[in-house]
Amino acid sequence: MAVQRLVYSSKINKIRSFALILVFAGILIMYVGLLTRKIEWLMVIFFILGVLMVLLSCVVYLWIGSLSLKAVPVVCPSCDKHTKMLGRVDACMHCKQPLTMDKKLEGKEFDEKYNTRRYAKGKDATK
Ligand SMILES: [Zn+2]
Repeated sequence: MAVQRLVYSSKINKIRSFALILVFAGILIMYVGLLTRKIEWLMVIFFILGVLMVLLSCVVYLWIGSLSLKAVPVVCPSCDKHTKMLGRVDACMHCKQPLTMDKKLEGKEFDEKYNTRRYAKGKDATK
């Protein structure tokens, strides 16, 4: 059980790193566009793509902001630091300790499926 802990990271951290990757990808694409400036239409396409990716990452950042407001602040039982939880199960941002809001899930193996709507309804969640 304990070995599995490191696999999961906090959802907010995941989305945050996704947004960061998007910014870098956007800048990279614009740089590629700069290299293809001899072919004007190609450069324009690369630039538009790059700008769109950077804009999208801004949207993702705003989304994280609103998610953080909805997230429940808790003190992690394993590292005593403050962290935020999204959904019924999430992982600590600092030590990746799996956390749950649901007493029924306490002690169970951490699984993202506990956040799905299907599980919440009590239907078969094995697949
Ligand atoms: Zn922790």
